[in-house]
Amino acid sequence: MNIILLGPPGAGKGTQARKLVDERGMIQLSTGDMLRDARSSGTEMGQKVAAIMDAGQLVTDEIVIGLIREKLEQNPTGSFIFDGFPRTLAQADALGELLAAMGTKLDAVIEMKVDDEALVHRITARSTCATCGEGYNDISKPIPADGHCVKCGGTEFKRRPDDNEESLRTRLMEYYKKTSPLIGYYWAKGDLKQIDGLGEIDEVSAAIAEIIG
Ligand code: AMP
Repeated sequence: MNIILLGPPGAGKGTQARKLVDERGMIQLSTGDMLRDARSSGTEMGQKVAAIMDAGQLVTDEIVIGLIREKLEQNPTGSFIFDGFPRTLAQADALGELLAAMGTKLDAVIEMKVDDEALVHRITARSTCATCGEGYNDISKPIPADGHCVKCGGTEFKRRPDDNEESLRTRLMEYYKKTSPLIGYYWAKGDLKQIDGLGEIDEVSAAIAEIIG
């Protein structure tokens, strides 16, 4: 089973992908996480993409396709959730070719629909546990008063440098210009499923479960 979670920044792709990893043992392939790891470990590529990411622009297709290719080669029999990839038509074509070369394919592309106003509120309020990545939101799921992560007990929390209004505007523009054409692309292939991404986390998970069984 291979799925894409498609949607603008803040739609909840990462949250739902982590649940699928915990509950079904699927493998989350988040190019955003891979790029952030490359930055924090200070690789040459990480340094090259840092300013682009902070500005909210897309890094080159070549870099992200290379990252995905490497992960697929490491896990030839995995069940994958593509989170934040593909983001351009060229990436979508490349993914189709990579999966075909492995003798597999996409089973569903799940578009998580959320209105833009909600995205701005979600993104400017979000933080994560620095230890386990559990997500928090200042309004709907605040960090517990005792300062300990509900999942791992960690006490350090972080906000993404690109989770600010200016960078978010660019990220949304990039999404509408370069990523939203994928909705038509996958619809035409017969792979597209659409769900309401605005509900509670468990409601959204239930909608995903209905699609993937
Ligand atoms: P994300 O965590 O998915 O929101 O990604 C954070 C940032 O990483 C994006 O704003 C882009 O700068 C970069 N990025 C992540 N995935 C991709 C991708 N598939 N193509 C191009 N840039 C990406």
